Formats: sequence, structure tokens, C-alpha cells
Amino acid sequence: MILVMKVGASEEDINKTINQIKEWGHEVSLAPGEKQTVIGIIGEKSDLGGRPLSTLPGVAKVLEVSAAYKRASREFHPEDTIVDVNGVKVGGGNRCVIAGPCSVDKLENVIYLAKKVKESGAQMLRGGAYKPRTSPYTFQGHEEEGLKMLAEARAETGLPIVTELMSISDIDTVYKYADVIQIGARNSQNFPLLKEIGKLDKPVILKNGIAGTMKEHLMSAEYIMSEGNENVILCLRGTRTYETAVRNTIDVTLVPVLQQLTHLPVIIDPSHAAGKRPFVSSLAYAGMAVGADGLIIEVHNCPKEALSDGDQALLPRDFEYLMRKLDNLTAWNQKEWVEFDKQKETDCIKV
Ligand code: PEP
Ligand code: MN
Repeated sequence: MILVMKVGASEEDINKTINQIKEWGHEVSLAPGEKQTVIGIIGEKSDLGGRPLSTLPGVAKVLEVSAAYKRASREFHPEDTIVDVNGVKVGGGNRCVIAGPCSVDKLENVIYLAKKVKESGAQMLRGGAYKPRTSPYTFQGHEEEGLKMLAEARAETGLPIVTELMSISDIDTVYKYADVIQIGARNSQNFPLLKEIGKLDKPVILKNGIAGTMKEHLMSAEYIMSEGNENVILCLRGTRTYETAVRNTIDVTLVPVLQQLTHLPVIIDPSHAAGKRPFVSSLAYAGMAVGADGLIIEVHNCPKEALSDGDQALLPRDFEYLMRKLDNLTAWNQKEWVEFDKQKETDCIKV
């Protein structure tokens, strides 16, 4: 349920209302807006047992949240969430590009790549130290040694680091080094892991599942948020479809759809979708053109020696080319379009 407060409702009224709801034993989430504050009450209408919500001080409207995801929904939190990673802003119209190798291999490579992607305009460095590989006989990641290499690259460049966490047992180690924790496609519905991540005070990049729907993606975000961590960045990395020409298929329409349904930032991972270097940049461009808040993209200085995903790694010069193209891109603005759509005089022109 949500309570939309009156325009200009006083702080006193807002506090009285919140306290009353808490006294009734319900959890509250507060979303102060430019004009109106929205108070979210966690729980279904039936849980609220006919409480006189509309008579609470300062309340203008009582609405039911129709979506199964509550904290992640735009109804609950009308303003865009901006996730702040050591000063790098993700969401709310800020462009954030994260780049780096699929897996951390050698310290020299990671440092070289961190410097190169930074020079081209990347704001964060990615790199896997715990790798989810299809075969148990392939490189599984350097684990804590890899995290240390990322930390050295951060010390050299100042770029915050994004790295994947696969298991509850590695939380403490990954937490120590990461600025953003990545939850990959394979763990997108690992609910016990999501709940543990929800207890941390660290931003999360949550990818969609291998064959996950958009709603499942939002429900996974809800798992994290329900434990208190609201700093969730959704990442579209494509799903497996009947199309075999590319590794995975990203439906870029989901960007404006998600922007309507959720306040969380949405970024695109074109690398794991395209799967091959020549198609990564065009898909990255499409994602940014449709209004995504950013990219997470794989770059390697010597793809043929990369220990994972070399086929889809951009070279630093490809990354530079893409970034300069993005500088000249005017992205679609869905909010502006919605405003335009409201102003139209008629849906039907009779001639
Ligand atoms: C990765 O980012 O290297 C990765 C394994 O991604 P995904 O979980 O999307 O497959
Ligand atoms: Mn990869």
C-alpha cells in the first residue's frame, strides 16, 4: 500500500503518520519527492486489516501497489534512484560506463586495462575473480589473489571496482575489496544469496537470469531490497532464445518498460549478449540510444590470451571508438515522451 501525502504536508504530519503505521506493526519506506512525499507500507491490503489510513495526518490518497515487487516499483518510489559508488553516480540520467576484463588474469594486464579504459572515459573497472564457468575444468578465477590485483588497479587509477560474488561463503572476502558486488545470470535467482547481499551496505549489479523474465529480474531485486539494501542496479545481459547467431538476446525495449515500472537504474551488458567482438559496440550503442543508464562491457588488451570470454572482448582502441560515438549520442528520453503523450489532443483524427 502507498500513502501519497498532500502537497506541502508538514514534517510533523509525515512523522505522526509514519509513527502510527509503525505502532500498528508495519514496516515503512519513505520516498520524499519534489512535490509530494510517498510513504510505502510493506504488506498486502489484507494485512492492514481495514486500518483508517486515509484519515492519518497529511494523507492525500491511499493507493494499492499492484505489482508483486513493492520496494522496486516506481509506484512505491516515484523518483529515480541514483546509486552513488564513491562519487560515481548511476541512474537518474547520469551515463555510467564500467569496463574491464571478463576475468582478472595478470596484474600487468589489469593495471594496463584500468588505465586505458579510464583514459577513454570509463568510470568503473570490472573484473571477475570468482568465475561461473560451464566446465569445471576451465579457469575458475584467481579468487582473493584476483581481488588484490583489482585493488591495486583501483589504487593506481581511482576507479571503483565491480566484481562477481557467487557464493555466500565468499561474502566476507569479496566485501573487503569490491565497491560494487555483481550477481551474475546464474545466481540471479539464488534467493539465499540475494537475501545475504540484501544485508550489506554495498551497491549491487544484478543481472537477469539465463532465461529470466523481466518480472523475475524485478522480483530478485526485491529479494535484495527486502533485506534493506536499496542500492540495486539492474543489468540486462540478454537471455537464451531460439536465436543462435548471437550468444544471448537483449530486448532493448525492456529499458523503457523497466523505466516505467521501477526507479532502479538499468544498465546494459552488450558483451555477454553479442558474444562476438564485432557486434558488441553496436549493441552497446543501441542500449544507450534507447535510454539505458550505462554499460558494463568487457575489454582486453590481448583477447586471444584472455582466460575467459576473449571472443567478446573489445580491444582498448575499440572501446575508445565506442566511447567517442556515445559522446555524440542523444538518447531517447522516455519521461519526455510520456509528457508529450499526455499533451496530445486526441487519439483519433477523423477526416
Ligand atoms: C561476467 O560478467 O563475466 C559473467 C559471467 O556474466 P553473466 O553472469 O552475465 O554470464
Ligand atoms: Mn564474461
